[in-house]
Formats: sequence, C-alpha cells, structure tokens
Amino acid sequence: MADTLVTEVAENLFRIRLPMPFGLDHINVYLLKEPDGVVLVDCGLDMPESHQKLDEGLAQLGLSPDRLTDIFVTHAHPDHIGQLERLRRLAPGAHLYLHRREYQPLQERLTDQTGVTHRMSNWLERNGVTQLSGGMAGSGVNYLPEIHPGDRLLAGGESFRFDKPSLANPTTQDRIQGAWEVFWTPGHTAGHYVLYNRDRRLLLSGDHLLGSISSNIGKYPGSTDDPLGDFIASLEQIRHLDIGEVLPAHGPTFSNYLERIDDLEDHHQVRLGRIYAALEGGPRTAAQVVETIWGDRARGFHRILALGEALSHLERLRLEGRVVAEETSDRVWFRAA
Ligand SMILES: [Zn+2]
Repeated sequence: MADTLVTEVAENLFRIRLPMPFGLDHINVYLLKEPDGVVLVDCGLDMPESHQKLDEGLAQLGLSPDRLTDIFVTHAHPDHIGQLERLRRLAPGAHLYLHRREYQPLQERLTDQTGVTHRMSNWLERNGVTQLSGGMAGSGVNYLPEIHPGDRLLAGGESFRFDKPSLANPTTQDRIQGAWEVFWTPGHTAGHYVLYNRDRRLLLSGDHLLGSISSNIGKYPGSTDDPLGDFIASLEQIRHLDIGEVLPAHGPTFSNYLERIDDLEDHHQVRLGRIYAALEGGPRTAAQVVETIWGDRARGFHRILALGEALSHLERLRLEGRVVAEETSDRVWFRAA
C-alpha cells in the first residue's frame, strides 16, 4: 500500500506517491482530473527517479505531463517545487499558482545572491554557530519560476474550480459551489498555502498539517517575524473548517484533524517549556539552546533546522514576555525575563 504509485483518494482526485532519497522517503503529489482541467498539486523532487515516477503515474491515468493545465505549488521547498521547471517546459500552457510571500524570497535569492548569503552567515554567526559541518548547500531552491500571463501569485482567499468549463478561473469574491479555496497558512514557510473544498470536505494540506510527523517550524532570514505564532494561528484557521479528509504531502490520508491539531499545539507547548528551561543557567545563544535540547541529533544540515526551530520558539517566548533577547556587537543572547 505504502508503495502504490497512484491511489484514487476521492472522486477524480489521485494521489501520486513520488520517491525521495531521505529519511522521509516519499512525497504525495495530487492530481485532479476534471472536465475543465488537469490540475497538479505539488511537483516532487527534481531527480530522475521522481521525474520517471510522475510520468509513470500520469500514464496510469491516461495522461502525460503536457496535458497539465494548472500547477499549484503549496510552498517552495525542493520536494514541492523541484519538478516545476521541467513540467513547465513540457506543458508551457499550464498556469502556476504560488503564494506571493513564497515567490518573494525566491526572487531575492536570484537577484541578490550575495546579500542573501551574507544575511545567512551573519544570522548563523550572531546566533552562535561558529563552525558548520555539512554546510548550507542544498537548503534552498535556486530557481525562480517565470510568471506567465494567466499565472497567479496568490494572497489567500482565492477560489478556483475546474469541474465546469463555464466557471473556470473565477475571480468573484462570492463563494463558488464546488470550488477549491486558497487558505494562506504561514508557519512552515512564509507563503505556504492549503486548498480546501468545502462541498467535498477535502483539505489538500501540503506540509502544514501532516498525520504523523510535525513539519519544521523555524525562524530563518526571510521567515515571517513570528513563524510559530503564525503556524498556531494557521492551525486554528483549519480547526474551524468542516473536513472529511485531509490529504497531506507526506504520509497517509487522515480524518482526525482536530486531534492532530491538538497534538501539534501540545508538541510546541512542550517544546516551548523545554526551551525556556534551557535558559535556567543564564543567558544562552540559540546555538547553545540547540546543543542542550538536540545535542548530537543536530549535526550538519539538521543543525540549521534545529537552530530555526529554537529561534521560532525563543521568539514566541519573547513575544509572550517570558524571554528577553539581548544583542551584543557579535551575538544575540536569550535569557528568562
Ligand atoms: Zn516543506
């Protein structure tokens, strides 16, 4: 079951499970096959095995990449946006949907590479990371999608439907029967969004809401100011939706989303407590907090993820008045208030 390439998860909605060579060994992309659209949600990694499996999955559905009419990218991580460039080459007429807050850092990365690199090393240094093994390479996507006429840089609140030709690409503010609504869910990334179909009670949740793993909620250069606060608020937004099934980007479909939201919020509460406790002995840099909480589990690239996690929690504690951040000329120190 876990290895099934294509699964029909709802009427005309197919999950295609693409391989990844990491601890997390797959990503689910979704294909909506409707009379007025062949819609892909997320793209998979830019690797030959992933290309091949996507094409194979499409072929099982009697399709090929050139038939795609619309491509939604929930956020710009490599497993979600990786194949986009290839797919746009194969399906030049397909429309792209990316959140504007996600597009902006990609644009910056390309137009101001020196500035971005400088901000990143400055960020590491000020937070107490002195030597880094493994490096930062591979952490981002050095690709800026071209925006064509008909593409949409989203803000959240848009609705789209593909099952009735007359109503394709609506722009009206009124709720449209059967439509997929865009909810901006910052937290995992600044411009992450999910797609919700109220009539079908389905949520395409990307990495925002996963059934068995908690996605990284980190504060990095380019993040929103308070990623953890945003993430919790984004979860609360989902809590109020009526959902029959959540279709996540990793792991199986699930329906106990309220329980899952509670679990995730508890998980971050516990982590806030542990990070607060790590400041018991006096002021600490974020890197020292990482050492206390994660120790040897945070090496190489995982150290960067852990640093981001520590900082998103420290910032939340700071905003709650429980922690004070003090900047010296070369470091940021956190202490209990
Ligand atoms: Zn992600």
